[in-house]
Amino acid sequence: MDVYGDGHRLFIQSMMSRGIMNITEVKEVLSECGIDVGTEFKDKVVRFVRLVNQHIGPINLEIRKGVEEEDGQQCYVLANTAETSISRLSSTYSPNELELFKKLIESIMENGDGKIGSLAAMNLTDKLEKRIGKEEAQNFFNRLEDDRWIRKNSDGKMSLSVRSIVELDQYIKDVYPDYVKMCSICTKLCLQGRQCENCGAKFHFRCSNVLFSKQGNNRTCPEPNCRAPWGQVVIH
Ligand SMILES: [Zn+2]
Ligand SMILES: [Zn+2]
Repeated sequence: MDVYGDGHRLFIQSMMSRGIMNITEVKEVLSECGIDVGTEFKDKVVRFVRLVNQHIGPINLEIRKGVEEEDGQQCYVLANTAETSISRLSSTYSPNELELFKKLIESIMENGDGKIGSLAAMNLTDKLEKRIGKEEAQNFFNRLEDDRWIRKNSDGKMSLSVRSIVELDQYIKDVYPDYVKMCSICTKLCLQGRQCENCGAKFHFRCSNVLFSKQGNNRTCPEPNCRAPWGQVVIH
């Protein structure tokens, strides 16, 4: 396969402009590239992404796979491997907007459930040194949602989307070490999930659904040092 062929170029361009693609979008782009996505899709994508990564690695970019925490949707995210600070988004957002984004992340981390209500999010504007009007703030939140850094959960609250979790992974770990929880099952950053009442360990909904369905009626906390019995968890 010619990595500089139109197919790979189109894929890289789509990734660069959107920053994130879900599986449906990846399928669309690959079929535009003339790749038959009907069979062995998973293997084809893995090979394709690996090949693309070999070529964008030297310019400090990497396509990483991630999962939306609320609904388990799989996505591919373009990550910058050289610059982990949130300030690299300064070409897209104004300094004041970035401050608001930081405050939003801070609140989401402090809340412990990985979410923030829209009213609480709007009130963050009061904490900015340079004030932003409510309408301007709402427009900015809409942009963050359009750019897929944040998403609206089914309960109407805002959460960080997989794009933020993958791309801002190191930033979040560096800035909020006291609030960071790693999923005991997949070992990745976990903002939204279930928490063990006994040991406080946290797991993604999706990761624990898989585990609990294997465990049947004898569900226990997956943390090796805990293994506390887990009550009847409603799996949905
Ligand atoms: Zn997990
Ligand atoms: Zn536990």
